[in-house]
Amino acid sequence: MSNPIIEFKNVSKIYADGKDAALSDINFTVDQGEFACLIGPSGGGKTTILKIIAGLEKATTGEVKKPAIIAMTFQGGALFPWLNVYENASFGLNARNRLLNGEEKYSEHKIKTETLNYVKMMGLEDFINKYPAELSGGQRQRVGIARALAVDPQVLLLDEPFSALDAKTTAELHDDLIKIWRTTEKTIVIVSHLIEEAVSLAERVILIKDRKVANIFKIELPYPRREQGLTYHQDVMKIRREFFK
Ligand code: ADP
Ligand code: MG
Repeated sequence: MSNPIIEFKNVSKIYADGKDAALSDINFTVDQGEFACLIGPSGGGKTTILKIIAGLEKATTGEVKKPAIIAMTFQGGALFPWLNVYENASFGLNARNRLLNGEEKYSEHKIKTETLNYVKMMGLEDFINKYPAELSGGQRQRVGIARALAVDPQVLLLDEPFSALDAKTTAELHDDLIKIWRTTEKTIVIVSHLIEEAVSLAERVILIKDRKVANIFKIELPYPRREQGLTYHQDVMKIRREFFK
C-alpha cells in the first residue's frame, strides 16, 4: 500500500505578476520514504512545485497535502557568507529555537550534537570553522544539505543541488545522498534538469514540461545505478525520448 506524504491534486499556480500560469493542473504523489525527482526543461515550473511543498508559495487552485516540517536547499546553495560551516549548519535549529518557548526548545547541547551529527554525515568535520568563500562548490552544497537535515525534516527538498559541480564531485555527492537517504529514511524530492542524475538517484522521476506533468517513470534499478550498464542507459533513453518530444 502506498502512503503519500505529499499529494498535489489539480494544482495550478499563477504568480501575481506573471502573465501565464507557472503550473497548470499538476497531479502527483510522493510516498513516505520515497526518493522522487522532478525533471524537465528550465522554466517548466519545478522550483514553483518545491516552493509550494515548502510553504513558500501557495497554489492558486487545487489541493496540496504536505507535512509540517520541511527543509529546502536552493539553487546555488544560498549559504550565509558571514557564518562558518558550523554556524550555517546550526542556523535552522537556532531559528527554530527562537520560534519556540519552554520545553519545546532544544538545549545548547542538543543543538550542538544534532549539528555535529549531520556535519559529520556530510564529511565536513574538518571544515567546521571555514567560511563559504573558503570552500569548494561541492563542500558548499554539503553544508546546505547538513543545514537542511539538522532540523530533522519530514521531507527534504533539494533544488538543483549539483548543477554547478564537476562530474566527479557530482558522482560522489550522489553516492553520499543515497547513503543518507538509506540511513535517515527521509522522504527526498530533488529537482534536476539532467536525465542521468534523475536515473542515478530517484525511485520515481516526474517529468514536468510546459507547466504540466508530462509523464511519471518508475526506476527499479539497484544502486549504484551508474554501474548498471545497459539497463541504466535504457532508462535514460526512455526518459530522454519524452523529454525532447
Ligand atoms: P523551473 O524551476 O522549472 O525552471 P520555475 O518554477 O522557476 O521553473 O518557473 C516557472 C515559471 O514561473 C517561469 O515562467 C517563471 O518565469 C515563472 N516564475 C517563477 N517565479 C516567479 C515569480 N516569483 N514571479 C513571477 N513569475 C515567476
Ligand atoms: Mg528552478
